[in-house]
Amino acid sequence: MVDSRFPSLNARVQAVSDALGGAFREGPDWVSYHALNAECLYVTPSVRPWMHASDLVGRSFAAWPMLDEERARWASAWLEVVTGRAVGRLVWRHDVVGSARWVESVLLPDEWRGQLVGVMVWHRDVTDRQKRESALEASVERLQLAYGLARSGYWELDVTTRRLTWSQEVFDIWEMEPEHFAATYDAFLETVVQEDRPLVEQAVSRAMHTHTYELEYRIRTGRGHIRFVRSVGRYHEHGAGRGVLFGAVQDVTAQKESELALAASRELLARSDKLAAVGQLAAGIAHEIRNPLTALRGFIDLMYQRARSNNRRYLEIMRGEVSRMEAIVSELLRLARPDRPQFQQLDLVDLVQEVVAFMSAQALLHGVDIQYEPRAATIKVQGDANQLKQVFINLMRNGIEAMQPGGVLRVALWQEGGAARVQISDEGSGMSPDALARIGEPFFTTKEQGTGLGVMVSKRMVADHGGDLLIESEVGRGTTVMVLLPVANGDA
Ligand code: ADP
Ligand code: MG
Repeated sequence: MVDSRFPSLNARVQAVSDALGGAFREGPDWVSYHALNAECLYVTPSVRPWMHASDLVGRSFAAWPMLDEERARWASAWLEVVTGRAVGRLVWRHDVVGSARWVESVLLPDEWRGQLVGVMVWHRDVTDRQKRESALEASVERLQLAYGLARSGYWELDVTTRRLTWSQEVFDIWEMEPEHFAATYDAFLETVVQEDRPLVEQAVSRAMHTHTYELEYRIRTGRGHIRFVRSVGRYHEHGAGRGVLFGAVQDVTAQKESELALAASRELLARSDKLAAVGQLAAGIAHEIRNPLTALRGFIDLMYQRARSNNRRYLEIMRGEVSRMEAIVSELLRLARPDRPQFQQLDLVDLVQEVVAFMSAQALLHGVDIQYEPRAATIKVQGDANQLKQVFINLMRNGIEAMQPGGVLRVALWQEGGAARVQISDEGSGMSPDALARIGEPFFTTKEQGTGLGVMVSKRMVADHGGDLLIESEVGRGTTVMVLLPVANGDA
């Protein structure tokens, strides 16, 4: 009997029911009163109908309808109250056939004359709130999945504690392992490229006023790569100065690099437009100067015949200077004339020999040796001598520029079937598969002073000759460029 163990308990339950019974007639809250052995002795009339007072009273919470894991949580809250006289609190699932409700319960020690006599538990139905929260959790999960698919990561910064939460995608972008990263704002700032750190800090403090966060910055990844990322977020405040900043971050390196490349090639285009305009202007001026120069020259010749020997010396000087001017003008005009290929029968063996001789000065400057090995006495092709020379100059120059002093540039030439083959091999830096894929794109260059036009122009010219230009390369070993041209037949 309860009465014999705790003489005052009965009176206590009576007092509790007198005090609460009137107030707790109807919901939403209800109160139960328990003996120290956890047996429920009383429950207010406001108890939810789905709880069935008869299932509760006379039973320990351990016998209430709930799942075992919930019972374990009840037991630990109970222990806290009974042994520590603290307030216990838990949210648990009350399982009845056909439905489940969530209940929040607060356990309060009931002391009488300095002695713990029972436990009063205050209950509230929180099913709706719990459903909203789990719906929220589910949508956060879906959101994270969407971020993953969009190759962006989800992050969250608690501005009070400066703790940071990153989804796996963020770690992937940063090329870091979660276990090797202290998830704090300061550790994160360390990964931002120094010059961009003030930008990030400004954006964070601005977000606490404007509630929005958006910027691009550079990071150095765990493997030492520099990457551009774009981050957007929102600030959510839940108390004065307390809140979270959360959002998404995306790797925009590839996009950024192509933007930069585009800007660079626009600049180059603008520059070559300007050059073309200057060229046209020069040609126009040259043309205008040529006629007056002819007149000058004619009169100088005329005066020379009549002049006395004293003046002839001056006139000779004038004639010499006018000749120089004429030479400059015709050179200018020749340069400015648009290159229209002049096809004719050529001997490739001689032509390549000429280019090798021409390039040897530059090779010497680089400390590089050119070895020419024609494997035929003569190979006839139809082509424009200037264009073909330009092609071999471009390709040999690249080979020379790729090598260190002491390197050897091998130029071989032979005929195979209907094709003439010129092979230019260097022992230089070689190209990565990425570079190899891009070579010949206009403005693709890895050189500080490069134009990235040499290979493109060469390819175009070789194609105009009905030929082909092939490149093989291996990083650290060197590059081989092969030019194939159709051999001229018939009257060769
Ligand atoms: P540029 O020489 O002005 O850079 P090119 O079109 O001639 O332009 O070459 C484009 C790029 O291709 C070079 O910057 C270089 O990176 C690469 N390349 C071309 N030829 C070689 C070579 N023989 N060895 C290594 N890299 C080469
Ligand atoms: Mg070049």
